[in-house]
Amino acid sequence: MFTASTYPWSLAHLCELRSEIRNKVKVESYKEERKERDERLGFGNLTDCAKLYLRDMKDTINVIGGGLAGVEAAWQAARMGAKVRLYEMRPVATTPAHRTDKLAEIVCSNSLKSDEYGSAPFLLKEELRRGSSLVMEAAAATRVPAGAALSVDRGKFAEYITERIEQHPAIEIVREEIKEIPADGISIIATGPLTSEALTAEIMRFTGDDQLYFYDAIAPIVAADSIDMSIAFRAARYGKGGDDYINCPMSEDEYAAFFDALVEAKSVPLKRFEETHWFESCLPIEEIARRGVDTLRFGPMKPKGLPDPRTGREPYACVQLRQENLMADAYGIVGFQNHLRYGEQERVLKLIPGLANAEFLQFGQIHRNTFINSPQILNETLETRRSPNIFFAGQITGVEGYVESVSTGWLAGVNAVRTLDGRPLLAAPQTSAMGALCRYVSSVTTKNFQPVNITFGLLEPLPVELRKKHRNKRERHIVQVERALEDWDRFIGELRMQPLDEKKKEEK
Ligand SMILES: Cc1cc2nc3c(=O)[nH]c(=O)nc-3n(C[C@H](O)[C@H](O)[C@H](O)COP(=O)(O)OP(=O)(O)OC[C@H]3O[C@@H](n4cnc5c(N)ncnc54)[C@H](O)[C@@H]3O)c2cc1C
Repeated sequence: MFTASTYPWSLAHLCELRSEIRNKVKVESYKEERKERDERLGFGNLTDCAKLYLRDMKDTINVIGGGLAGVEAAWQAARMGAKVRLYEMRPVATTPAHRTDKLAEIVCSNSLKSDEYGSAPFLLKEELRRGSSLVMEAAAATRVPAGAALSVDRGKFAEYITERIEQHPAIEIVREEIKEIPADGISIIATGPLTSEALTAEIMRFTGDDQLYFYDAIAPIVAADSIDMSIAFRAARYGKGGDDYINCPMSEDEYAAFFDALVEAKSVPLKRFEETHWFESCLPIEEIARRGVDTLRFGPMKPKGLPDPRTGREPYACVQLRQENLMADAYGIVGFQNHLRYGEQERVLKLIPGLANAEFLQFGQIHRNTFINSPQILNETLETRRSPNIFFAGQITGVEGYVESVSTGWLAGVNAVRTLDGRPLLAAPQTSAMGALCRYVSSVTTKNFQPVNITFGLLEPLPVELRKKHRNKRERHIVQVERALEDWDRFIGELRMQPLDEKKKEEK
């Protein structure tokens, strides 16, 4: 007997089959089409199968991509009572950056940015925490020391999330590459900056927009025991967070030598794409250096708040390294993303005092970032204007960063369930960080739409009287955060979201 629980087809398989047959068989020969489908599926009665397929599609939310946004979307949809099918192509196919088959694999820095009360990244995280985010739960469970930032042990973080998703009774994980946007049912596309080529082409067809590519770069990581601690010193900027960072101080001469070597070093040529659109807050160091001799000293090599304990003075420039894992045996060079050739990279980075004998566990890299032109395509509730059953979430919407991606996954998950239930979709509160991000990606008017991190620049400003009252910027930010969290709590309360488990307990 063929039942939904023994349902043998995958969505990708059905989509492929449908387009294959559609291309091959003309409409007038329906019998022939049916015969062909029946033969290929290995079932005698397609009508029954098709009915089952359609019923299954109606009750299930498809989440495509098991990255940071996809797992959060799947989790929220499932805890609100929906059945979820989560499609992840790894390990069947992979991306140039992922290394494992784990869900929510973090591909670069292990930092989820500042968790300091009153900062914009804190607000975004706090909203998610109050919204029972799975990713925030995992981050709390796998946190590593990083001063005021929330950083995680990336291996344990992905394992934690994978296990929780695998154990959820309403989520089915399907390991395969989706190549077509599903025509039926409700789907959330969360395939990230490295969406597979076939699906990228399909998204281009769907959106009608072929301006999808730009580049980001990845920072190098060195073995902790290869850092010369007789030169480097431990400290956090302005003493915030004890001695979480390793700092490599530079004199003026050392900086000049490093600068010259950096701007002359050879980069990996960009073969496949004609133009480079660097994301301003993730510029490769060589690109920053080319903008002026002192630009690095005011950016990733800023010495402010980092006095060298041996001299008591701030150095001329300073390179910071941040702990990458709980074992504390790997440190990432903060802000040193680059796309130099590996040999060149090693030569240049070893000029940094304290790194002369550094062992590189990972070199900086160039990578692709796929994102849609959201202001033309999405509503702030994250469904597409063209087809309200298709949602986008994560970095592909034009947000940038781990937590930003999680946040859009959260909202897409909630709204996909509301679509399933026939209820009106909800926008996140105007004043909240999530609301600000969704408003930006869905409505910013600019010729050159570029991905954004959460900043106070995106948040709704305070009314004039409050701005007058709180002239100090930091104080103003705290008022903004408090106002946002009040609105957020009201929003969450109205959602009346109860975890599935709790619902079950109540029923008992
Ligand atoms: C090399 C690199 C470095 C980065 N560094 C940072 C950083 O330091 N800090 C930061 O905040 N952000 C960084 N980012 C951005 C980071 O990728 C995002 O912040 C975050 O991972 C986006 O989450 P997401 O869920 O949208 O995408 P992802 O986490 O990438 O998840 C997408 C998932 O979809 C899967 N997938 C793709 N195509 C298909 C398909 N056709 N069918 C099924 N599954 C598919 C992928 O395998 C992947 O698991 C970096 C990105 C890259 C590529």
